[in-house]
Amino acid sequence: MISIDQAIQIIRANIPLPQAAEYTVEEATSKYLYEDVTATEPSPRFTNSAMDGYAVRWEDVNCASFDSPASVKIIGESRAGIPFQGKVKKNECIRINTGAKLAAGCDTVVRVESAEEIDPLVNIMSVKRKGQDVRYQGEEFQTGELLLQKGSKISAPQAGLLVSLGVESINVYKPTEVAILVTGSELVSAGESIADHQIRDSNMIMLKTAIREAGGCVVNSYRISDQKEATIEALAQIKADIILCSGGISVGRHDHVKNAAESNGFKALFWRIRQKPGKPLYFAKKDNTLLFGLPGNPVSAFMCFTHYVRPIITSLNGLPLGWPTVSGEALNDISNQGKRPNMIRVKLTWKPNGGYCITNAKKQGSHMLTSLSDADGYIILEPNQIVKAGERIDVYTYDFHRKPV
Ligand code: AMP
Ligand code: MG
Repeated sequence: MISIDQAIQIIRANIPLPQAAEYTVEEATSKYLYEDVTATEPSPRFTNSAMDGYAVRWEDVNCASFDSPASVKIIGESRAGIPFQGKVKKNECIRINTGAKLAAGCDTVVRVESAEEIDPLVNIMSVKRKGQDVRYQGEEFQTGELLLQKGSKISAPQAGLLVSLGVESINVYKPTEVAILVTGSELVSAGESIADHQIRDSNMIMLKTAIREAGGCVVNSYRISDQKEATIEALAQIKADIILCSGGISVGRHDHVKNAAESNGFKALFWRIRQKPGKPLYFAKKDNTLLFGLPGNPVSAFMCFTHYVRPIITSLNGLPLGWPTVSGEALNDISNQGKRPNMIRVKLTWKPNGGYCITNAKKQGSHMLTSLSDADGYIILEPNQIVKAGERIDVYTYDFHRKPV
């Protein structure tokens, strides 16, 4: 049996380097940029109006007031997508819409509310300054400016920005391809009829969701019963960067994952970690494929995924190999009276004066999914370690976007 730290070191020594993959911007959303993005054109692309109104020459209207309006002649219109082609000369103007190109000769926009139109003239009653309500070419950014840094996530605004620049496809960190093999003769799906001795397979959906939330991609998913041949056959077929097996990794007569992996050419890197829950975790490798044998108990499976597999997926997306944590203050004493380091699930609450408070889920059994669904993260306590009420400790959070406070 190895320690948590040793397990992490072995994983660190065996993970591949991140790779790039080109995707359309739409496919690239929720992925991470593999390159810096610089502006290939200025923004705005052309000088245009910020308001609906009249594009005028400052020198014709700068003395205008409500008592003594400046009267100018409307000679045309510039609409969004249909610009005015001519030039505006002395005492002339054009009607203009928001986003429409400013015509040659104009330098200022007067809002509809500050003018009174008596076709073909318009009385300009107030204008504050030259250049009012004009959006200048390049005022947001110029060609060549750095807009998005390598490693940033492409969420909705970044996708919008890329497409506004005319980008159709982009290099992102290639998401880790993960396959899932759930084992267990006792398992049925939700919706299937269920006998007294059966349970529903909750690990499949939990792992799929966790993989996707971490930024990985589920490429295959299978469920098989506890049969040696079926396990060997299934593992022989799966192609992925990471294979996650659920169940069948302990010392029972019907636990076949370890043997099946090794008869498929996987080399064991570790089996069993001094921790609770998740002691039976198995890690093996064949060529560039990593295989994790997660214990079947749902809490153990999820904790092993979160502590050992998720950092691999996020590191292949360009983040440092690590865990999101926040510091919290224990509301009550929390202790580990067991013999192994314990990953204790805790709930975070926000204190009115700032900072997080920690309470531990009362029922911590590795078969008790509510210890996860009611928790925001976990703390790791060594045997006999006590966190006293009022003391602070780092919490590993399940939500990997949570920002440290
Ligand atoms: P195992 O690791 O296969 O010995 O399974 C340990 C415990 O986890 C047993 O009580 C199983 O019934 C349960 N278990 C295994 N796989 C799943 C699963 N996919 N969903 C829910 N419970 C499971
Ligand atoms: Mg089993």
